[in-house]
Amino acid sequence: MEEKNSVAKELREKLFAQKKNGYHRISAQEEKLAEDFAEGYKKFLNTSKTEREAVQETLKILNENGFVEYKKGMELKAGDRIYRNNRGKSVIMAVIGTAPIEEGVRLCAAHIDSPRLDLKQNPLYEDNGFALFKTHYYGGIKKYQWTAIPLSLHGVVVKADGSKITVNIGEDENDPVFCVTDLLPHLANEQMSQTAGKFIKGENLNILIGSRPFADDEESGTVKLNILNILFEKYGITESDFISSELEAVPAFKAKDLGFDRSMIGGYGHDDRCCSYPALMATVDCKDPVHTVVTVLTDKEEIGSDGNTGLCSSYLKYFIADIAQALGSCGRDVLSASECLSADVNAGFDPTYAEVNDRNNCAYLNKGVCITKYTGARGKSGTSDASAEFAGKIRILMDGNDVIWQTGELGKVDEGGGGTVAMFIANLNVDTIDMGVPVLSMHSPYEVISKLDLYMAYKAFSVFAKD
Ligand code: MN
Ligand code: MN
Repeated sequence: MEEKNSVAKELREKLFAQKKNGYHRISAQEEKLAEDFAEGYKKFLNTSKTEREAVQETLKILNENGFVEYKKGMELKAGDRIYRNNRGKSVIMAVIGTAPIEEGVRLCAAHIDSPRLDLKQNPLYEDNGFALFKTHYYGGIKKYQWTAIPLSLHGVVVKADGSKITVNIGEDENDPVFCVTDLLPHLANEQMSQTAGKFIKGENLNILIGSRPFADDEESGTVKLNILNILFEKYGITESDFISSELEAVPAFKAKDLGFDRSMIGGYGHDDRCCSYPALMATVDCKDPVHTVVTVLTDKEEIGSDGNTGLCSSYLKYFIADIAQALGSCGRDVLSASECLSADVNAGFDPTYAEVNDRNNCAYLNKGVCITKYTGARGKSGTSDASAEFAGKIRILMDGNDVIWQTGELGKVDEGGGGTVAMFIANLNVDTIDMGVPVLSMHSPYEVISKLDLYMAYKAFSVFAKD
C-alpha cells in the first residue's frame, strides 16, 4: 500500500498541473525583490491616477533612464532607447534590438486609463445653497460605489487665450476633497427597493464642491459665484473654459499595503497600472535585447479603445512603420513577425463571490501572473483567442525562467464578460495573448492585488522582452 501511495505521489507531481500557492514556490530572495518592487509601484499609483499623469510619470522615468524622444527620420541602431508621446495621454517606448527588425518586435501593451467620473462640459451649477459639478461616468462602474467617498480632481483646462493649466486638487494632505452624496438609510425606503443598477442614477452622480455664498445678500447663484471667483483667483479660469477641459474625479485615497501580513495592495487604478508599471519597468531594465522591445501604455481601453489615443487608432502602427523604415524594413513585415503580450488584469477569485467563477479556470491571487488565452463574452465574442502554438511558446518561456504563472478566464461561461486591447493588436497580424495580474473588486474605487503576482508580471514581461 505504501509503495502504491508513493507511486501515486510521484505520478501526481508528474501529471497534474501546478496549482500551488506562489508563496510555496517563491524563494526568500525573490520575495524580498517583490516587496521592493511593490514600493515603487505604490508611488507610481499615487502619482499617476489619470492617463495624463501616468504619461508624465512614465516620461520622467524614461528620461532618467536614457530614453530620448523619437522623431520620424532619426537614425536608429541597436541599443537605442526611444519613446513617442501621443498627445500626453498615451506613450510608446522602445529599445532597439540586435536582430534585424523584420524578425519582429516583442510588444507589450497595457492601458493607463481607469474608470472614473468625468466632469461634463458645462458642469457647474447651484442648487439650494450648494455648488455642484455634473459628471458623466467613464468606463464600467457600479455607480453606488462612487458615492460617499473622498474624491480628488485631476486634469487640464484650456483657457480662452489658448493657454493650458493643469489641475490636481485633493491629493495633498492639506487639499480639500470632494464627494458624491448618498441618501441616509432612514429615508431610503424607495431607493433601497430598486435594483443595484438603478438606485444610483448616472445623472445623480453630482459632485459636491461648495456651500459658502459670495456675499450676504439673498440672491441665488452666490455660492456658484463664490466658486467661480475662487477658480478665477487660483487658475484664471471662467465658466466657459470648462468647455475645453478634461477634468476627472477619482478616489482621493492613497495606495496602501493591505492585510496584517502586508501581502496585498489596496488602491485605485490597479486596472491597469499593475500591468503598465511592470511593463514600463521591464522595458527600462531591458539592456541590449535581441529583438526590438516595444511597450505601449495606452489610453481609452476602458471605453472601447476608440479615439486617437486608444489602440483602435493607428498610432502604434505608425510608430512601428517609422522605426521599421529607419532600420530599412517596412511596418507590415515587422508587425507580421511580431509577438505581443496584452498586459491587462483578470478577475481574481473572490471566496465571497465564488459562484461567478469556474474554479478550474479562473485566476487566484498569489498564484502568479495570469495567462488568458481569450477574453470576450458569450461564445468568445469580442476577443482574439490566441493560438495553441503561441500559448505554448509563452508557457515554455515562463517555465524556463521560473516565472510563477497560472491560467484563467474571466468568469463562468455566459456569466458576463469583458475584453482587452489584445484583439486590436492581433488584428494587425501580431501573435497576441493576454497576460496580467488578478484583481479583486475590479473597477471599484478600491481594488486589491497581490504583491507576488505584481512582481511575477514584471518578471514575465522582462523575460519576454529578452527572448
Ligand atoms: Mn484593464
Ligand atoms: Mn478595466
